[in-house]
Amino acid sequence: MTGHDPFQGRRDFLRASGVLGLASALPGTLRAADTAVGDAPSDDAGTASGAPLPPRAPLARQPFRRLPTGAIRPAGWLRRQLEIQAAGLGGHLDETWADVGPDSGWLGGSGESWERGPYFLDGLLPLAWQLDSAPLKAKAQRFIDWTLENPWPSGMFGPRSNDDWWPRMVMLKVLTQYHELTGDARVIGLMTNYFAYQLGELPKRPLRDWGRSRWQDELLSVLWLYDRTGDPRLLQLAALLRRQGFDWQGMFADFPFKQKVDVAALEAKGGDDVFMKDLGQRVHGVNIAMALKSSPVWSLVSGRVQDREAVHHQLKMLDAYHGLPNGMFSADEHLAGRNPSQGTELCTVVETMFSLEVALAITGAPALADRLETIAYNALPGAFTDDMWAHQYDQEPNQVESSLHRRPWTSNGPEANLFGLEPHFGCCTANFHQGWPKLTGSLWMATADGGVAAMVYAPCTVRTKVQGVPLRIEQSTDYPFRSRVDIVLHPARAVAFELKLRIPGWATGSTLAVNGQAQPTARAGHFVTLHREWRPGDTIALSFESAPKAVPGFNDSVSVRDGALVFALPIAESWIKWRQRGLTADWLVYPASRWSMGLPENATFRRVEQPVGPVPFSRRHPPVTLSVEGRLVASWKAEEGAADPVPRRPQADASDPPQLLTLLPYAAPKLRITAFPLLAPGSDEHPRDGHVS
Ligand SMILES: [Zn+2]
Repeated sequence: MTGHDPFQGRRDFLRASGVLGLASALPGTLRAADTAVGDAPSDDAGTASGAPLPPRAPLARQPFRRLPTGAIRPAGWLRRQLEIQAAGLGGHLDETWADVGPDSGWLGGSGESWERGPYFLDGLLPLAWQLDSAPLKAKAQRFIDWTLENPWPSGMFGPRSNDDWWPRMVMLKVLTQYHELTGDARVIGLMTNYFAYQLGELPKRPLRDWGRSRWQDELLSVLWLYDRTGDPRLLQLAALLRRQGFDWQGMFADFPFKQKVDVAALEAKGGDDVFMKDLGQRVHGVNIAMALKSSPVWSLVSGRVQDREAVHHQLKMLDAYHGLPNGMFSADEHLAGRNPSQGTELCTVVETMFSLEVALAITGAPALADRLETIAYNALPGAFTDDMWAHQYDQEPNQVESSLHRRPWTSNGPEANLFGLEPHFGCCTANFHQGWPKLTGSLWMATADGGVAAMVYAPCTVRTKVQGVPLRIEQSTDYPFRSRVDIVLHPARAVAFELKLRIPGWATGSTLAVNGQAQPTARAGHFVTLHREWRPGDTIALSFESAPKAVPGFNDSVSVRDGALVFALPIAESWIKWRQRGLTADWLVYPASRWSMGLPENATFRRVEQPVGPVPFSRRHPPVTLSVEGRLVASWKAEEGAADPVPRRPQADASDPPQLLTLLPYAAPKLRITAFPLLAPGSDEHPRDGHVS
C-alpha cells in the first residue's frame, strides 16, 4: 500500500464523472467518501471485527447481512473438506494448468486473460484465509497485486488484451472479498475509478453476451462500494446495469422453456422473439444459476417486494420443468428437462449456491437455506473425486457410467461426465473453488436488529461483533450426517442480543435447550428467536427430528431423502485412467454391478450411522446408510453410457428375489441411481415359494 494515494481514486472518479468542478456542491458525498477511504484499513473492515456494515440509504433494509469474508472459519468435517480442496486442485491448480499459471493475463502474462483467473481467485482467496494458509494467501496475493497495480489510464482494469465487461464482474467480487479480509484501501480506489469509467462507457459500449446475462453479479459489487462511499453515481450505474442487463424476472414471469432445449434451435440462433433471439444465453444453466440472485439484489435498489420475492417463482419454474432430485436443475449445459439421466454443469451448481447465499440474506426465507443445504451436501461433493483432484463437468443423478459418449447432453461434448482436469471445457476447473468457501462464509449472518443467526448448519467458528461487543461462536456438529447442533457463545462480556436459529423445512420436530434448560422452538421452515442477555460460556443444544422418506419425481419415480441428505444406490465402480494430465488425470468409470433396481410403494428404511470419516463424503466410510428392500427391473437398460429414462411403474423381474439395498449419501458413490422406478402394484408379491409365472 506504500506510495499509494487513496484519494487519487476519488478525484479520478469525480473527474471522469464530470463533477470535479462541482465538488464543493457535493459536500455530503465527499464526506462520505473521505470517511470510507480513511477508515478502510482499520480493523472494522476486516476480520478483527467481523461485523458487516449497515446498508446505506436509500438501499432497502434486508433481514440478514452476510458477515465479512473471513469472519467464519470451518471446523470439524467441514475443515477437513476444505483441507482436501486445498491439498487437491483447489490449492495446486496453478501448478498444473496454464490457464491460471504464471502466464495468466491476470498476472500480466500473455496467457488466458478472460474469466479463468478471476474464477479461480473467487474461491482461492476465501479458502486461503479460512485455512489461514500462508502459501495459498501468497498465491492469491500475486493476482490481486497485479490487478491493483496495473489499472489502465482510463479507469479500466485487468488484462489489456480484452475489454469484455464480464470477467471484470468476477474480479470485482474477488476484490470486495479481499478488502473485507485486509482493508487494503487500493480496492476502493480501483473500484471507484472503474465504475466511473464504466458509467461513461456503457452508453457507448453496452453490456452484451455474458455480461448482459450476468449484470446482477456486478450490481452486488456496485452496492458493496456504495455502502462504503455513498457516492450517488453508483446508484446511476446500478440503474444502467439493470436497464442494459437481461430481464430474467420478466422471462420467468411467463416462463417459455418447459422442455429439454432442442440443440437445433440453439444453433439456429434466430427469431425476433426477445427470448429466442439469444436463445443460447437465455437457457444457459450457469446464466440461470447466477440470475437467481438478480431480482433480490435489484430489490435493494428498487425497494419492491415483488422484486425481492421473484426468486421463489424462478425456483418453482425450474423445479417444475427441469428439477432433479439432487436439488439442482438440469443444465448440460442448457436446460434439459427432468429426466434424471440429464446432467448439471458444476459451474451451475456453485453459482446456484452463491445466488442462494445472497438471496437468503436479502429475503430471509428459510426455504432458500434448505435448498442451499441440499445442493451443498449432495450435488457439490457429488461432482468430485474424494481427493478433489478431478471433477465432472456434468453430473447425473442417475449416473451409470462416466465414459466418452455424446448422449444425453443438450449441447455438451462426449467428455462431459468424465472425472478429470477439464472434462469438456475448463470453466468449471476454474470456477468450482468458490463452492465450499462461500458456503462456509454463509453459515451465520448478522440480523437487521443487531443480532446473529444460524442460517446453514455445519461445524464452524464465528468471530463477529454484536452491539459493539466482540463475540466468538463455536458450533460443533456432524450435520448433515447427524441432526444435533451444539453452540457455545463467547461474548467478551455479557450482552443482550437476539439469536436466531433456522429450523429446516424437513424437520418433523425439534428440541432446543439453553444452558440445559428446555426452550420453546419454532415450526419447521421458520426461525426460532432467542432474546436474552448472553454470557460467556452459554450453551445452546439444538436437535432436529426427521425420518427417511421417498420423494416423488420424474415418471412417477422416487428418490430418497433424510434430512438434508439425498440417498443413492451405489454401483460398483471400475476406474480406468484415460490419460495423465500433469499432476492429475482424466478417468473413465464403468459399472461393475447391477443398478436397474426399483422400490416398492411404502418402502421402509433402516438407518445406520458410523463415525464421519476423514473424507466426509466417501463411499469407503459413509457416515450414514439407509437399507431398503428393492427389486430388479430387468427391462430398464442403458444406452451409450446413460440410463434410459426411469420406466413408469414397471413390473419387477419375477425371477429375481427382493434384495436388501444399502443406500449411501448421494455424493459418496460416483456411479449411482438416485431416482428409482416405483414398482407397479403387485410387484412386491414375489413368489417366494418358487412358483414363477
Ligand atoms: Zn463450467
